[in-house]
Amino acid sequence: MTQQSKNIAIIGSGLVGSLLAIYLKKLGHAITVFDRRPDIRNITFSGRSINLAMSNRGWNALEEVGIAEEIKKIAIPLDKRAMHVIGKPMYFQKYGKEGEAIWSISRGVLNKRMIDLAEAEGVHFRFDEKVWDVDLPEAKIFTGETEKGEWKEYNYDMIFGCDGAFSRVRHKMQRRSRFDYSQDFIDVGYKELSIPPNADGTHKLDKNSFHIWPRGKFMLIAMPNLDGSFTCTLFLPFEGQVSFDSLTTKEEAKKFFETYFPNVMQVIDDLLVDFFKNPTSALVTMKCYPWTYWDKVALVGDSAHAVVPFYGQGMNAGFEDIFVLHELIQKHGDDWLQIFEQYQKERKPNADAIAELSYRNFVEMSSKTADPKFLLQKKIEKHFASKHPDKWIPIYSRVTFSDRPYSEALAMGDEQESIMKEVMKMPQIEDKWDSTEVENKMLSLLQD
Ligand SMILES: Cc1cc2nc3c(=O)[nH]c(=O)nc-3n(C[C@H](O)[C@H](O)[C@H](O)COP(=O)(O)OP(=O)(O)OC[C@H]3O[C@@H](n4cnc5c(N)ncnc54)[C@H](O)[C@@H]3O)c2cc1C
Repeated sequence: MTQQSKNIAIIGSGLVGSLLAIYLKKLGHAITVFDRRPDIRNITFSGRSINLAMSNRGWNALEEVGIAEEIKKIAIPLDKRAMHVIGKPMYFQKYGKEGEAIWSISRGVLNKRMIDLAEAEGVHFRFDEKVWDVDLPEAKIFTGETEKGEWKEYNYDMIFGCDGAFSRVRHKMQRRSRFDYSQDFIDVGYKELSIPPNADGTHKLDKNSFHIWPRGKFMLIAMPNLDGSFTCTLFLPFEGQVSFDSLTTKEEAKKFFETYFPNVMQVIDDLLVDFFKNPTSALVTMKCYPWTYWDKVALVGDSAHAVVPFYGQGMNAGFEDIFVLHELIQKHGDDWLQIFEQYQKERKPNADAIAELSYRNFVEMSSKTADPKFLLQKKIEKHFASKHPDKWIPIYSRVTFSDRPYSEALAMGDEQESIMKEVMKMPQIEDKWDSTEVENKMLSLLQD
């Protein structure tokens, strides 16, 4: 489908903005991307290097525009979790079926490559230009050094707000009547730490695993980088007995790691330096609606829906927004009003679903993993799924290894949960959890 060429501004050169730029440029539009940051390709490492897990939805969007193979060169497949549980030797948990994997990729490295690819298509980038205001009906943007200083004015046919969870474009839409908006921070923050490579450049831990050290109310994860290092993320409550607030001296932090993560102490040389040098960041769920203003302005990615990272889906969901937008463009051609209307109607329930799933995963990890009943339930589900893989697809697989809507994964997950509620009521379930009686009960509940 060809479209009449438009002059389009994309606000934000993050992952979503740069991918959208490639899509729209390939459709024949003139694209300018504005970012308040300097060009990240000229910046050396700043101490914050989030690693992301790319899964099916992300890959689909990259494949559609022909850049998946290029991006795979900078990603490492992880086909399993490596569980580091206190009092047990490390063990592996396969993610899905044979060949299913999530891919570890550095956000910075990915972003730089995507900007390169967009530029090669002819996308024009304007770095160091912060957008302060947007005229929604006229598709005008205003940039400048400070909010009170002098602004430059630019006119476009359309604007895409890809400016992240604290979007300025959305901020302008929020001032309109009947614009819904909510923002919820969780009481857990995160800090990045880094495991350097061995002297010969190899990884210190298994490089094809997503490493997890679950500790109830807090946890550490580690994902591999191409240079032999791992990026670790420590998720910890801000306040409380074991919290960022309670770790203010080197001695306290050292004791914390020795107690809860003894094998990590051995592999991170500058653990305590990193701990005090790197910032502690907050995690937020942001919801809003509508996502579009007539056929002039649309929000895409975190600016429309920010989720907590416990399902590893924020970027994947943003990339899927673009995939869906592209499908709608194929269907509706130049009718942008229709494209935008269908886009927000189709994506909003799915964004809400992944927000809910991500939040539930956070609750599950922080408060249920020590509950014996919960652990028994998970054991029964796993046992049943291994015997009937066609009848019981775990919700994690529905989210991660499928491109069916997130809302469907949420609904199926709720259905499975109600079946498990009945199963857990069976007398002496603790003793007969792997019996034929339990299996038959589950099969009959599935048929109801
Ligand atoms: C700890 C953590 C772990 C995560 N792990 C995963 C994961 O495993 N898998 C996954 O899929 N997702 C993950 N995510 C989510 C993922 O990082 C985000 O969903 C994704 O980066 C969103 O991309 P974006 O382009 O929409 O926004 P952003 O990456 O926030 O980019 C927004 C861009 O807009 C620019 N900008 C902002 N305001 C202005 C302005 N006024 N003018 C001009 N430019 C502006 C910014 O400088 C930035 O470049 C994780 C997030 C966190 C915090």
